Amino acid sequence: MTAAAATAVKKSALASVQAAEQHVLLPTYDRYKVLLRRGKGVWLYDAEGKKYLDFLSGIGVNALGYAHPAVVKAIRKQTATGLLHISNLFFHDFQAELAEKLAKISGMERAFFTNSGTEAVEGALKLARAYAKAKTKTGKPKWRVLALENSFHGRTMGAVATTWTKKYREPFGPLMPGVEFVKFDDVADLEKKFDASVCAILLEPLQGEGGIHLVSPAFLKKARALTQKSGALLIADEIQCGMGRTGKWFAYQWSGVKPDVVTLAKPIAGGLPLGAILCTQTVADVIHPGMHGTTFGGGPLACAVAVTVLDVIEKQHLLAHNAELGAYMRGKLEALAARHAVVKEVRGKGLMMGVELRDAEAAKFVAKAMLDNGVVANRTHEVVIRLLPPFIVEKKHVDIMAKAFDKALSQWESQQQSPKKSAAKSRGGKG
Ligand SMILES: *Cc1c(COP(=O)(O)O)cnc(C)c1O
Repeated sequence: MTAAAATAVKKSALASVQAAEQHVLLPTYDRYKVLLRRGKGVWLYDAEGKKYLDFLSGIGVNALGYAHPAVVKAIRKQTATGLLHISNLFFHDFQAELAEKLAKISGMERAFFTNSGTEAVEGALKLARAYAKAKTKTGKPKWRVLALENSFHGRTMGAVATTWTKKYREPFGPLMPGVEFVKFDDVADLEKKFDASVCAILLEPLQGEGGIHLVSPAFLKKARALTQKSGALLIADEIQCGMGRTGKWFAYQWSGVKPDVVTLAKPIAGGLPLGAILCTQTVADVIHPGMHGTTFGGGPLACAVAVTVLDVIEKQHLLAHNAELGAYMRGKLEALAARHAVVKEVRGKGLMMGVELRDAEAAKFVAKAMLDNGVVANRTHEVVIRLLPPFIVEKKHVDIMAKAFDKALSQWESQQQSPKKSAAKSRGGKG
């Protein structure tokens, strides 16, 4: 086969997968036109052998990158025992070990394992309702939930009811009733909407999908004070910002506020599906056998890998690394902001950064151009380029990303400066 013919065959691999999906999958995603085949470290490789520097980590999941030796070893070891799954009717070696580690780093006392983020949020909402029922025998029912504007908590019926974006919620109504959204970081609005009928305040200490917005310590403290006084729960959704990404184990730890319940998922098992609900003993006291459960959640393979991921984060001092690399990345991004008028703001903490551009068209163009320039990032909340690199990222990788980002911004600007030329080009392309 000639090189050209080989390329044609490989190219058709993407085209044929794409065509096949169009016939059989629910059309929920408009994917990037890349067929991934392999990953190593911070690099991804597509079916044509093109490599990409990954600054998205499969949306904040692949904390140790791809093919990390410790993760590969843990998977090999556990699969060799034959026990991928045993159900929660039996014991295995890793749930208690993982729960103990998570309790130690979070200040919580109990854990329940799920398969995903949305299930962790769903379970946390159930905990809040059960807690309120158990603790308030008389008086006004306590059942409402306050969430924040621009929140994202998942796609199942309860979690999606607490998710701000209308297009995620409205087609599926009626949703779980009793949810109200508080203006982002607005203490006065929180005080106005909070009353004795609220069973939980649910928030991401650092919002992810909503465009990388950090909740202020003042707001967290007010949420803590109000819930504490009335006997409602404060639930921190740390699914995206937790497990060390911001430079502390959990983003709430920057404020000194301790929640009653913490939800985890994305990076916890280095790419395998696993989530967790962590809570205090007081909250755990209202749960009895049979009240909640899961078939797959907390299986031996995912838990064994999660224990390994935690070990690596600890032993490699990745919290300090994430803080340091985050500061380095912020410097690079702020330099871009100074050079390019289309950049409005740089936000975030540690390895969770967002760069807000002036409009959605620019953000769409820039995310695509970065991919063409060999760097994976993504556009969230219409106008924000989101960067969630693996924890193993190094300064030289940040430099490569910043260069590709710079180039993409320049490409956007030169296209804007010659609108006629590019309009003619795109017309020509279509004709
Ligand atoms: C991704 C995410 C979820 C949902 O997690 P899934 O695993 O996709 O169900 C919930 N909350 C936050 C903050 C998230 O980033």
